[in-house]
Amino acid sequence: MFYAQLLTLFPEFFDSPLYCSIPKRAIAAGIVNVEAIQIRDFATDKHHKVDDSPYGGGPGMLMKPEPVVASIRAAREKHPDTHVVMLTPSGTRFTQSKALEFTEKPGITLLCGRYEGFDERICDYVDEQISLGDYVLSGGEPAAMSVLDAVIRLLPDVLGSPESAVLDSFSEAGILDWPHYTRPEIFEGKRVPDVLLSGNHASIERWRREQSLLRSQRRK
Ligand code: SAM
Repeated sequence: MFYAQLLTLFPEFFDSPLYCSIPKRAIAAGIVNVEAIQIRDFATDKHHKVDDSPYGGGPGMLMKPEPVVASIRAAREKHPDTHVVMLTPSGTRFTQSKALEFTEKPGITLLCGRYEGFDERICDYVDEQISLGDYVLSGGEPAAMSVLDAVIRLLPDVLGSPESAVLDSFSEAGILDWPHYTRPEIFEGKRVPDVLLSGNHASIERWRREQSLLRSQRRK
């Protein structure tokens, strides 16, 4: 079974997204096991302090190395084969091929930041740093949930039709999905393209491929 450990100050963040739709089904089917681990539990001082002000001054607080590194060590102790990923805007951009790469591991540990981010020395204790994109979230939890969701749907037997994941955008590097239509045939004067109603599978396939390439070029 694939596992995911989430190192976070807000384990409750994951309660809702993990318990609906595809992640919920994957957990119920025993395909993935997800455990949210409270970083604060690894703070040893009286007040369970996990943040402190930056040396050199400046706004905000940083996540302290001691509790964060202790939580990473606990995650590695539980799963010595784990791949620890720090979520940070400074990381490498997350992609579909990275999601696929993660599914080939026994499991992953996702480290979520808060405040102004991590004390830089924490980077030495992770295997990889991943960014969701060029924007700043309030915390690593939404980024970790996105990574986890993208990984879960690629695990064997998660999607009803294994074809779905293969046909998704980016399964082929840089290529987007084609436009999709469902009933009604005419919606507010907008018609479904004739080719999709033709029943000619070769023409449909050709049209879809052309549309995929067109969209992908336009996006660039
Ligand atoms: N001061 C940091 C910076 O400018 O790079 C931003 C810190 S952000 C407010 C707090 C946490 O949210 C980060 O430590 C990280 O875990 C997470 N985060 C924010 N944006 C992210 C992104 N684009 N990708 C991944 N994680 C992100």
